[in-house]
Amino acid sequence: MNELIGRVFDFQKNVFPQRSALYQNLAANGQSPKALIISCSDSRVVPEEILQAAPGDLFVCRNAGNIVPPFSNANGGVTSTVEFAVMVLGVRDIIICGHSDCGAMKALMKPGSLETMPNVAAWLRHSDAAFSVVRDGYPELSGPEQARAAALENVVVQLAHLRTHPSVASGIARGEIALHGWFFDIHNGVVLALDGASGRFEEISEGNPMPVALAAQKRFAAGEPLLEAAE
Ligand code: ZN
Repeated sequence: MNELIGRVFDFQKNVFPQRSALYQNLAANGQSPKALIISCSDSRVVPEEILQAAPGDLFVCRNAGNIVPPFSNANGGVTSTVEFAVMVLGVRDIIICGHSDCGAMKALMKPGSLETMPNVAAWLRHSDAAFSVVRDGYPELSGPEQARAAALENVVVQLAHLRTHPSVASGIARGEIALHGWFFDIHNGVVLALDGASGRFEEISEGNPMPVALAAQKRFAAGEPLLEAAE
C-alpha cells in the first residue's frame, strides 16, 4: 500500500483518540471557523500548518493558482464556498494566499505551455490581469523572479475578484469583513502580507502591525444610513 494512504490507520489509532473531545464538541455544536483561506493546491503550501490551525479553526478552499473567479451567473466551487463561508458561517476574515515557485503562475507566464491542458488554460484566464500587469509592468523580469511577481500580482487580482461577490461586497460595506492577501515563501517560511494602503507586500513579523489588504470598516458610498437614522 502507498505509505501515505496507510497513515489513516495511525490517525484512527493514535491521533483521533487524543483529540476526540475536540472532535466530539465540533460534531455536536457544529463548526465556527475563524477565517476562510483560499490557497493554491500545491502540496508544499499547507494553510493549517502555516496558521497552526486545529480542526474547526479554518475554512479552506484550495485550487490551482489560488484563484477566485469574479462573480457571475455561472455556478462554481470557489463561488459557492465563499458564499457559504460568509452567509452561513459568518466568516469575517478572508485570506488569499499565493506562494513562491507556483506552477500555475509559471504556466500563466508561458501560455504556450498549456496547449495540452485546456482546462488549466481556461482556469488561468482568471489570472489574465496579473499576466498583463507583469508583462507590461515588469518587462525586465524572467524566470523565478517573473513567477514571483506574477504570484504577488495574482493575489491582488483575486482580491479584486473577491469583492465582486455579493456576500463579500455586502459584508465589506457593513464593516464586517476584512480581506488579507498573503504570499508564502516555501524556501524560508516567510509570509508576506499585502498592505492595502501602500499596495505593497510586507513581511509579517512579530511586534509589528499585521499588514491588511482591506481592513474591516464601514463603507457606505451613500453615507451612513444607520447613523443618520439615529440622529
Ligand atoms: Zn501554486
